Amino acid sequence: MASNKAVFSPLDFDIFYNVIDGELSSTQNNVRYGINPFTLENNPAVPVISLHDVNRAVEAAERAAKLWAKVPWDERVSAIGEYANAVEGKAEDFARLLMKETGKPINLARQEINTCVEYLRGFCQLSLPSEVIEDTENRKVVKRYTPVGVVAGIAPWNFPVQLLCMKMVPAVLTGNAFILKPSPYTPYCSLKFAELAQRFFPPGVFQALSGDNDLGALLTEHPNVQMVTFTGSISVGKKVMESCSKTLKRVVLELGGNDPAIVCADVDPASVAVKIASAAFCHSGQICIAIKRVYVHEAVYDAVLATIVEFAKALKLGSGEDAFAGPICNKDQFERIRDLLLNVESTKLTVATGSTKPPSDMGGYYIIPTIIDNPPDDARIVVEEQFGPILPLMKWSDEADVISRANNTSMGLGASVWSRDIDQAERLGKQLQAGNIWINTHAEIQASAPFSGHKQSGLGSAMAVEGLKACCNVQSVYTRPADGTA
Ligand code: NAD
Repeated sequence: MASNKAVFSPLDFDIFYNVIDGELSSTQNNVRYGINPFTLENNPAVPVISLHDVNRAVEAAERAAKLWAKVPWDERVSAIGEYANAVEGKAEDFARLLMKETGKPINLARQEINTCVEYLRGFCQLSLPSEVIEDTENRKVVKRYTPVGVVAGIAPWNFPVQLLCMKMVPAVLTGNAFILKPSPYTPYCSLKFAELAQRFFPPGVFQALSGDNDLGALLTEHPNVQMVTFTGSISVGKKVMESCSKTLKRVVLELGGNDPAIVCADVDPASVAVKIASAAFCHSGQICIAIKRVYVHEAVYDAVLATIVEFAKALKLGSGEDAFAGPICNKDQFERIRDLLLNVESTKLTVATGSTKPPSDMGGYYIIPTIIDNPPDDARIVVEEQFGPILPLMKWSDEADVISRANNTSMGLGASVWSRDIDQAERLGKQLQAGNIWINTHAEIQASAPFSGHKQSGLGSAMAVEGLKACCNVQSVYTRPADGTA
C-alpha cells in the first residue's frame, strides 16, 4: 500500500485512489479496470483494497466519528455546503467521467451530478432537534438522537454518485463517519467525490474504498461498523441483512422494484404515453423506479401502445447531446437482459417494436428499446425486474382486478396512476403497495420526502428526516431535581 497526502492538489480525473484517513492511497500492482460501456475499452486502473486497509479505514472512521459527533450541527451544514459548491464547480468533469463508467449520455450524466448538488444542499435544510416529551416540576423527559458511529454505504452501478449522496449526507450531517464502497463497475466518480471531500471534512469523516463484491462483505461483517446503508438487488440485500445480523448492525436497504403504471380510460393517450415511455426508457430502463409494467385501460390501449411504439422507434441511443439513452452499463446486466429477450422469443410473446437481438452496428452494450404487446401476467418480463429497455403493456378493464395485478409482486418500490380524474387516481393510488405513489407523474424524489420500499423492495428510508433518524440511535433522557423530589 502506498499513500500520499496530495489531497489538495488539483483533481486529476485520470488517476484514482482509495481515500483513507484523509490520504490518497493506491494498491500498487493490485488494481482492476472498469469497462466503458460505449466502447468496451478499459477505463483507468482503480485500486483493489486489502483487509489491512479496510481495518485501517474503519479505525480512522472510529477516531473521526468521536470528534465529528461533537462538531456543532451548523458547522457540519457549512462543511457540506462548501463541498456542494466544490462539486458544482467540477460538475462538467464529473459528468464526463460518469458517462464513461455508467454509459449515460452526457445530459443524463449532467442531471445526476446536478441532483447530487441538490441532495447535498437539500439534506442541509433538514434538522433533527431533541424533543421535550415532558417538562413538569418534578421531571423532564427529552428524546434525542445520537450518531451510531461508523456507517458503511454500499452502492450499485446505476446512479453511483446520486446514491452516494443519498447515503453520505444523512450519515455525515448527523455526526457519523462514513465509508463508501462503490460498485466494482462504477468506482470512478465515487472515488473522486471522496477525494474532493477531503478539503472540507476532517480525516476519516468521508472515506471511499474500491474493491470487489468481497469488500462489501468485509464491511458488513466488520465488528466496528455500526450501520450499513445498502442499495442494490434484493438477493444481495438479503445477504447484507444476514451478515449485519451477526453484530446487530443497523441497516437501511434500498432494493429492486417492479413499478407498475396504471393508465385510466380518460387520459389523453398521446401525452400520457410519452411521459410513461420517458419514465420507462430513461437510462435504458436501468433505474430502480423506472416504470417496468404498464396496465392500460382497454378503451385507450391501442392509442397508448401506438404512441409508445413511436417513441421507442424514434428514441436516439448514444452518448452525445441529442441522445436519450445509452448502452447497458455492464456485461452482466447486458447478458441478463439478453436472457429475458431470449425468453420473450421462446415464449412467442408479441414484440410491438424493437428486437430480441442487440444492434449489430453500434459496438457497446446496446439493447434496442423493445415493447411487448399484452403478455400474460406470468411472463418473466412482467414478473421480473428487467432493469433494461424492455417494456410490457397489458390491458385492464376492472379497477379491483388491475389493483390486484399491480400488487401481485413481492416488490413495492414505486407505482403510478394516470388519470384526469384525481379522485379516481387517488382512490387507486391508495390501494397500491409501494413506498412511493405518483399521480400523473413517476420517479420524482426529493431530499425532504422519505424514499422507501415496501415488501422486499427495502427496509427503512435514506431520505428526509426518516433518513437522518436511520443514522442515529434514539435516546430518552429522564431528569429529576437533585433534591430527590418525586
Ligand atoms: P448488486 O446487489 O449486485 O450490488 C450492489 C452492491 O453490493 C455493489 O457495490 C456490490 O459490489 C455489493 N455487493 C455484492 N455482493 C455483496 C455482499 N455479499 N455483501 C455486501 N455487498 C455486496 O446490485 P447492482 O446490480 O449493483 O444494482 C442493481 C440493483 O440495484 C437493481 O435491483 C436495482 O433495482 C437496485 N437499485 C435499487 C435502488 C433503490 O433505491 N431501491 C436504487 C438503485 C438500484
